Amino acid sequence: MGNVFRAGADDMYLSNGGTEVFVEVLTLAVAELARRPWELRFAALLARQDQNVLGRGAVGFDLAELEWGGTAEERAAAKAFVLAVTGLAAGRHRWEELGYEPPHALGYLRRFREIVEAFEPPAGVPPGGVLPAPAVACCVRHRAPSALPDWEGCVFCHR
Ligand SMILES: [Zn+2]
Repeated sequence: MGNVFRAGADDMYLSNGGTEVFVEVLTLAVAELARRPWELRFAALLARQDQNVLGRGAVGFDLAELEWGGTAEERAAAKAFVLAVTGLAAGRHRWEELGYEPPHALGYLRRFREIVEAFEPPAGVPPGGVLPAPAVACCVRHRAPSALPDWEGCVFCHR
């Protein structure tokens, strides 16, 4: 069992352990970069990729199901943000805080970057949009977005 991170027809399958690594390294990067509302919504989406809360193999998302913005500029900025987060993560941002050396993380991030780069964010609001409200709370202990109001704490709280 694992989880799928998808952009329409293009997808990346990760084992449950691989998913945990992928989400953790992205979380450390998004905590650094997210400022604007859409960015904080993406941070909130990552905070909800928590298998210790939702169950093993019960996370994943499809980029085609996110709301990317009403204008071409907004959509381009949102996509650039996801790529920036991925790039910062690939620069091993705060990896010393992971407590382990993630051997495959760079491969996951490289693959995710390919998926995002090739993806054309859709205009309008997709049915059943999955982007949560902006992350307003930050876990002070881990300096990472909290999943409030859905649940308390960040992905590092529930390890
Ligand atoms: Zn935490």
